[in-house]
Amino acid sequence: MRHIHHFIAGKAHPGGGTLGDVFNPATGEVDAKVDLAGPAELDAAIASARAAQPAWAATNPQRRARVMMRYVELLNANLKPLAELMSREHGKTVADSIGDIQRGLEVAEFAIGIPQLAKGEFTDGAGPNIDMYSLRQPIGIGVGITPFNFPAMIPMWMFAPAIACGNAFILKPSERDPSVPVRLAELMIEAGLPPGILNVLHGGRDTVDALLAHPAIAGVSFVGSTPVAAHVYAEAARHGKRAQCFGGAKNHAVIMPDADMEQAADALIGAGYGSAGERCMAISVAVPVGEETANRLVAALKPRVEALKPGPYTASEADFGPLVTVEARDRVAGLVEKGVAEGAKLVVDGRGFKMQGYEKGFYFGACLFDHVKSSMDIYKTEIFGPVLSVLRAKDYEEALALASNHEYGNGVAIFTRSGDAARDFAARVDVGMVGVNVPIPTPLAYYSFGGWKRSAFGDLAQHGPDSIRFWTRTKTVTARWPSSVGKGAEFSMPVISKS
Ligand code: NAD
Repeated sequence: MRHIHHFIAGKAHPGGGTLGDVFNPATGEVDAKVDLAGPAELDAAIASARAAQPAWAATNPQRRARVMMRYVELLNANLKPLAELMSREHGKTVADSIGDIQRGLEVAEFAIGIPQLAKGEFTDGAGPNIDMYSLRQPIGIGVGITPFNFPAMIPMWMFAPAIACGNAFILKPSERDPSVPVRLAELMIEAGLPPGILNVLHGGRDTVDALLAHPAIAGVSFVGSTPVAAHVYAEAARHGKRAQCFGGAKNHAVIMPDADMEQAADALIGAGYGSAGERCMAISVAVPVGEETANRLVAALKPRVEALKPGPYTASEADFGPLVTVEARDRVAGLVEKGVAEGAKLVVDGRGFKMQGYEKGFYFGACLFDHVKSSMDIYKTEIFGPVLSVLRAKDYEEALALASNHEYGNGVAIFTRSGDAARDFAARVDVGMVGVNVPIPTPLAYYSFGGWKRSAFGDLAQHGPDSIRFWTRTKTVTARWPSSVGKGAEFSMPVISKS
């Protein structure tokens, strides 16, 4: 059986004996064992990061950028095997895994711009013979704690900018699918990254809490569920660290009466059921405006949902794969039961789905609910499975209020032909990322990604300009040259210009 080790100081680092199971969700069998860190492995990761970071911070930014350039080439050359490895532990289709790697790779491409991105500011002659300038210096050692659902993209959102800025990084990936994160670190070494700058430490809550408490860690980036995001944010703050923590979601799509219904229905199918709904930007609530729109939408969705084919990642015709674990599958099944008990109408029922030849796999068929109410649990809770709920709104204001008043505020979309409606919606909706006829409005690498409300804790988002701010700290220098310095002490508050 495969055995997945930690990756410390540029090489595989065996653990102290505590192991976790890694499943192949397609077959339901244990596919590998993963080492889970104890204090000795944590100390080793921190020691290697500490030893390597000062020289890396002193390496000029162009050389750091060249490592990222080679890394991008290596990722491209290894796309297919990385994607297959990912699908084997995550369950999603290989095409979907390629997209996961691609979106992370784009952040590494963005980080190649580090000589330009991390430039400071300079004011020549801020006062008589006085110059003022600011430097963006790395924070030191950063930690990334990542979820199972994007085992390449989300680690790269974090470590690519962090490392380009001159930091060392400890990645604590999800213990559900830990192989790809290790491969990503190996490829960084192959690209020329000095050992110790990127370490991978496997583990669960204990490892996370030990990292959060460790005085050597300066910054923490977290992506996962909201209760854990809130915990990590509070713990990081308690230990005096900067933190950005991203949580769960319940993304709405508002369908206006003038929308192109065929286009909207196709978009909802891809965004609702792709990756078995295990995406933080998945659409999980469709909000048609008006009864007539709702009837047309449900009529367009029903045959499409019925036609969806779950399957193993090895089957090229599969639309989506199994859920990540048996617990995840049972949780989704429980929520669907709850929805039925609450009185929502289950228009397409995927509960009985069985994958022939893969009876032990963690499959769940696509479900479609209609007549969902905002008081129901299936509306309030993030389902994170192949389930789309239709909640009928009487008018635009009610639809806007639904998306705005939900506790989560990650992504939202509106489908309309009206520029007025789209513009008003984008301006007023209380959600961080908005799509106009775009169901999954995930910003590209050079913009920042981040939700609002209980989808995010902290004030700086992932990748894009915010990431450079998060992974650096600003130092501001005020310099005066002797020729302008007068005689004697000055006791009043220094003021450069008096008008
Ligand atoms: P999770 O919260 O269970 O785990 C995330 C990480 O935290 C993992 O590395 C895990 O080992 C660790 N962890 C788990 N429990 C912990 C605890 N009690 N204390 C400390 N650390 C703990 O999330 P998941 O199931 O891996 O991922 C799915 C969730 O992530 C969904 O809620 C999804 O919406 C969210 N997500 C959000 C975004 C975003 O950008 N907002 C992106 C992707 C996923």
